[in-house]
Amino acid sequence: MTVGLALWPEQLSDQERAWLDPGVPENLDRNPDILVVGGGIVGVATAVACTQSGLGSVVLVEGDRLGSGASGGAAGQLIPEAHVGVDPPFLVDLMRFSLAAWRNLERTWPRGVGLIALDWLGLEPTMAQFESLPSGAEQLSSDQVDALVPGLSHRGPGVLVRDQARVNPLRAIARLSAGLACVATGVRVQGVSLEGGRVRSVQTSAGQLSPRHVVFATGTPPRLSGLQLNIPSGEVKGHMLTTEPTNLRLPGTVAPLATSIDDGRLMIGGTLDIGDSERVVRPEIIAAMWAELSAAWPVVNGIRIAHQWACFRPAHPDRLPVIDRVPGVGNAWLTSGHYKTGILLAPATGIALAEWIRSGIRPARVEGLGVDRFATV
Ligand SMILES: Cc1cc2nc3c(=O)[nH]c(=O)nc-3n(C[C@H](O)[C@H](O)[C@H](O)COP(=O)(O)OP(=O)(O)OC[C@H]3O[C@@H](n4cnc5c(N)ncnc54)[C@H](O)[C@@H]3O)c2cc1C
Repeated sequence: MTVGLALWPEQLSDQERAWLDPGVPENLDRNPDILVVGGGIVGVATAVACTQSGLGSVVLVEGDRLGSGASGGAAGQLIPEAHVGVDPPFLVDLMRFSLAAWRNLERTWPRGVGLIALDWLGLEPTMAQFESLPSGAEQLSSDQVDALVPGLSHRGPGVLVRDQARVNPLRAIARLSAGLACVATGVRVQGVSLEGGRVRSVQTSAGQLSPRHVVFATGTPPRLSGLQLNIPSGEVKGHMLTTEPTNLRLPGTVAPLATSIDDGRLMIGGTLDIGDSERVVRPEIIAAMWAELSAAWPVVNGIRIAHQWACFRPAHPDRLPVIDRVPGVGNAWLTSGHYKTGILLAPATGIALAEWIRSGIRPARVEGLGVDRFATV
């Protein structure tokens, strides 16, 4: 869920807004080959991958509107190289694979996804994360940084990575979903009936469905009657802000400062608000974010904040996502806890699940992301 005023909905066309909430189609297929539960970016990307893999009929159901969870409030940055030295190498590789998949969707999906190219410039202390530079990264001197970002309070070197990307996450969800055969919103999955280690039927607020395969992409793991899952999870709140349009131009994302987006707006965030689960925007956090930026880059003084919002990252204790078969259930999969990188990882997650459903074999790329890493399962 996103609280406050996010920029992303305002940028959508009326058509894109309508795609986010189609309601229940008259011809809802109640016996699909694939049922995807959850219309965040991960569920939508999974439904797309299953469709592209020719797995048969695909139905996507969402309890609210598409993108109403964490996805609609995310920054939408797709920057694998910023995770080098921060996340495990296998996950960074999955992120690189996923950025390539995003580019492929932009080229091949009927209306694309609204992908925007973006460079990333890491300043101190962010650049300290690299033991060695990511491939393709350039080391910049203080003078070179100064030429790219004039007016910084502290001069220092930087690391520049070109050719990363970002999306308006709601636009990406809207355009991806528009190419799917069957999407239902306002349909909450309430329970499942198991028989012989398989899901036989799924109970929803729009009646019963009997899919051949089910994927749960519900942000945090699903809590449903009939499905005994005990996977530790929670949420990590984060605040975001964007300014009014400005004449300032950053070279893409400058970490840890801000990102230049449409019309010269500056985007800042997200914060890590550990222990705050309240569904409110906290003005003092927004003020602290702004104070930090204006101390580091005083040229922003006088610019007004136009949008401020908060959303909640689904997370597991080790901050890695789950991409796995539901333990003990032959025809059900789940993906959850995408934490800070669910937008980036969505296409790779969908492709891995589609491959797994097709072959019956766990793809090697997602081997480290099973639920068996949690002792309580
Ligand atoms: C401030 C902030 C900034 C971020 N920035 C980035 C970024 O720049 N790049 C990046 O890659 N990631 C970013 N993220 C992380 C990203 O937002 C999440 O990892 C991602 O959105 C998770 O997507 P999801 O589809 O798994 O979950 P969600 O978007 O939460 O979607 C799950 C959906 O499932 C639905 N659902 C749940 N239960 C049911 C049910 N029983 N029946 C039907 N529907 C159900 C929910 O309504 C919801 O719409 C950011 C997050 C925050 C908070």
